Amino acid sequence: MTTIWALALHGGAGAIAERVYRQEEEHMAGLLEEGAAMLARGESALDVVTAMAEALEASGLHQAGKGSAPNSDGEVELDASLMDGETRAAGAVAALRGFLSPIRVARGVMEKTNHVLLTGKGADAFANANGFARVEDPKSYYKTAASGLAGAGTIGAVARDAKGRLAAATSTGGIQGKMPGRVGDTPIIGAGCWADARAAVSCTGLGEYFMRVNAAADVSARIEYAGASLADATQAVMDDVRNLGGQGGLIAVDAAGNVAAPFNSQGMKRGIATSSGLRDVKTFR
Ligand code: ASP
Repeated sequence: MTTIWALALHGGAGAIAERVYRQEEEHMAGLLEEGAAMLARGESALDVVTAMAEALEASGLHQAGKGSAPNSDGEVELDASLMDGETRAAGAVAALRGFLSPIRVARGVMEKTNHVLLTGKGADAFANANGFARVEDPKSYYKTAASGLAGAGTIGAVARDAKGRLAAATSTGGIQGKMPGRVGDTPIIGAGCWADARAAVSCTGLGEYFMRVNAAADVSARIEYAGASLADATQAVMDDVRNLGGQGGLIAVDAAGNVAAPFNSQGMKRGIATSSGLRDVKTFR
């Protein structure tokens, strides 16, 4: 019996044509191999997307985790979420300050509380009480990753594991110079992140638009109610974003292991690995 698994990563839809993203692409290619090995060993989609998101946060190459840009007060406020498609369990943090891995804290919210989303001081207190690693010296730690599209940038991972389970994770520093307290689509389950039995989705771009089309959950809804393919469902969602005037992209995987990565910005750093041997890392078309 062949084992089917699929993995996709993104490093944000903020990529601009004037720049070369070789370092980001090389890092992503290496990470894809690690994720591929985890999935080939039978590890769960949830564990794989958590590990991939944590590594992308720590890389400092994207506007999430270490690469996050400050808000208009000069503070870094972090948003992250993840969802397990098998159980529909989800966890998220918004406007979290001073922790190394927002996605790990989001997973903690999912596993250790009865809640889905903790924000601001409450998220900080939860992360502290549960011993999540802190950023000791924010001034020297954060090295804002260069971003294009309106100062945007995010990371994400979606996977289908060998048992057919789907999961998604998304993490961001948000939009550069955002208002203090501003929260985008990234930690909003259904908008920037979604996983169920049909699809796992992670979005990137101007979050206000992705929230207004409930982008990530709508991919699954189109598959369920309209019988759409993953390719058609994801394109229709991106058309909806564009029709409102929004820019960005998303990565998605379905129950059969199909992968889609449409975007309407200049570029989207992205990588795909599948059990059929596909390895594809690109920023532009
Ligand atoms: N969607 C993120 C936000 O609005 C930013 C991004 O993906 O670039 O916070």
